[in-house]
Amino acid sequence: KSPFPSDSVAIIGLGRFGGAVAQSLMHVGHEVLGIDEDAEVVQRWTDRLTHVVQADATDSDVLRQLGVGQMGHAVVGIGDDIEASVLSVLALEEVGVSDIWAKATGERHGRILERTGAHHVVYPEAAMGERVAHLVTGKMIDFIEFDDGFAIAKTGAPAETLDKTLSESAVRSRHGVTVVGLKRGRHDFIYAKADTIVETGDILVISGPTDRVERFAALA
Ligand code: ADP
Repeated sequence: KSPFPSDSVAIIGLGRFGGAVAQSLMHVGHEVLGIDEDAEVVQRWTDRLTHVVQADATDSDVLRQLGVGQMGHAVVGIGDDIEASVLSVLALEEVGVSDIWAKATGERHGRILERTGAHHVVYPEAAMGERVAHLVTGKMIDFIEFDDGFAIAKTGAPAETLDKTLSESAVRSRHGVTVVGLKRGRHDFIYAKADTIVETGDILVISGPTDRVERFAALA
């Protein structure tokens, strides 16, 4: 029987990507088992995760012995070694992990991972590149786009919204975006309400269709 609760996560390969995923999961309170074949990497992570093991993750017997099959989720962070990445996904599937995530370094790698049994394939470099493109050409401070053309962005407040409540400036009906939250100076973000007055220097969090979000942010 696995010593891990069902919402625990196995991270295969503690490189830059796997390491960042592992650290964030620990931060929000999940139990994390890190597996890497490199002794130095394992040494580096030992005190920072619930459990860290030096092992070859392409070996399903090893995964079974570690109780990985009973863990709720697994993330394969191996990138450069495509063979090891694909074989790890196969091994995870073999031991019965029902939610397998894998990082792809490119489109071909991603297609192979999908065929192999990964339930979610992520393209961190392509995704970050797209995001930076939005930020570098526009006035947005941060930008996240979801698959269906819907985005959330952090942007400055356009002049037409200053010193008015959100219902007075009618951002939603005029621009098709919703102001979700607002940050003033060093205060925490607050939820935006109809009677919230926007002041010079405020940072807005807005959501809406990607093109509307982009057009609204360009006014800032
Ligand atoms: P990143 O670009 O995110 O740093 P890398 O591909 O450089 O990703 O790092 C992958 C990590 O996965 C390395 O620490 C490497 O030791 C580990 N790794 C590679 N193959 C295996 C394997 N078969 N089993 C376990 N760990 C592996």
